[in-house]
This record gives sequence, C-alpha cells and structure tokens, in this order.
Amino acid sequence: MSAPDDAGRSATAPPPPAPVDEPTRVRRPFLVQVAALRKQNGAARVEHREGLIADLGAVSVVVPEDEPVVLDVTLSSYPGGITADGAVTASWRGECRRCGGPVEGRVEARVKERFAPTGGTDQDEEAYPLTGDELDLEPLARDAVLLELPLAPLCREDCAGLCPTCGANRNTETCDCAPPVDPRWAALDTLRGEDPPI
Ligand SMILES: [Zn+2]
Ligand SMILES: [Zn+2]
Repeated sequence: MSAPDDAGRSATAPPPPAPVDEPTRVRRPFLVQVAALRKQNGAARVEHREGLIADLGAVSVVVPEDEPVVLDVTLSSYPGGITADGAVTASWRGECRRCGGPVEGRVEARVKERFAPTGGTDQDEEAYPLTGDELDLEPLARDAVLLELPLAPLCREDCAGLCPTCGANRNTETCDCAPPVDPRWAALDTLRGEDPPI
C-alpha cells in the first residue's frame, strides 16, 4: 500500500502554509469564509456570529470574559474586497467613577468597514486584512466595542459619591462630616437654585 494522500500532495511536498492551526480555527467564531462571495461582485450575505473575546476592556470597564460579543453584519463583495455593515453588541461591567460601586450596561456599536487583501502596491490602508478567502471579524468587533465603552461610568446619573472625609457612601449612608468648602460646589448649588449648605 502506498502512503495515504488524502490532501492530494505527496509526502515530500513542502507543508502548506498554516496561518491558523486547526484547534485555533475551531475556537475562532468570528472567522468567515468568503470564497463564494468574492466570486461575484455585489454579492451579499448576512452573518450572525457570537463568541468570547479575551482582554476586551478599558480603564474602568471590561467586557466579562464569559459574556459573548454578538455581531450581525451584511458582508458585500466589491472589486477590492468585502465590506461589513451592521452592528456589534456587548455587555460590560465596571466601577462607578464617583462611588466605586458596580455598574453594568450594554453597548451597541454600528460598524461599516472594509476588508481587503494585504500587501501589493495599491493596498487599502484603512481596511482590515482579508487573507485568501478568509476574513476575521474579531478585530472589527473588538475595535467597535472598545470605542463605545464608557470611559467613566456612573452607577446612576445623580450618584452622590463618597464622603471625601470619611469615605461613607453618600448614596446609602449619612455622616457627620463638615460639608465640603469647595467654592465650585457652592456655585453649582446656586445655579440649581438651591440654598448652599450651612
Ligand atoms: Zn456611584
Ligand atoms: Zn463623612
């Protein structure tokens, strides 16, 4: 018996390029095959993908590692590559910038981006890479979510924050500390039509 050759190549042929190893591919839910799309200019296809994206967050806010990022896009073929047009949604958790309490929310980011082959003289610098007939929507989803995450979330609009003197959470406790003497607060109170604290 000769050596099996399921891949249609001899044992002495150089190994094919392997940009993505097989176990990794299985774990990449945002990877899309677009060979059929690329064959027909103007062809379009709707893709729904969801999966976990690691290390997605900003200073005081993160997308939890066990919360899937959800992507719904229409992929369309144009002469230079593929466009992705749609939305990405994700949940986030963070800390209130005033009281440090937990805050959570959800972002929905609109996306409209191009994917184009890399290299070559007429490379599309603003496009995401299109590698062969494969495009990875994960960088697109990651970037879109990062742009929408709040930089300094509040647990609620009128969070009273912590007492600067004793650290009491003014949303839930009172303390006997003297009121702040910062003149900016007094000015704000005047603007609101309230009496300044005595
Ligand atoms: Zn708060
Ligand atoms: Zn206090």
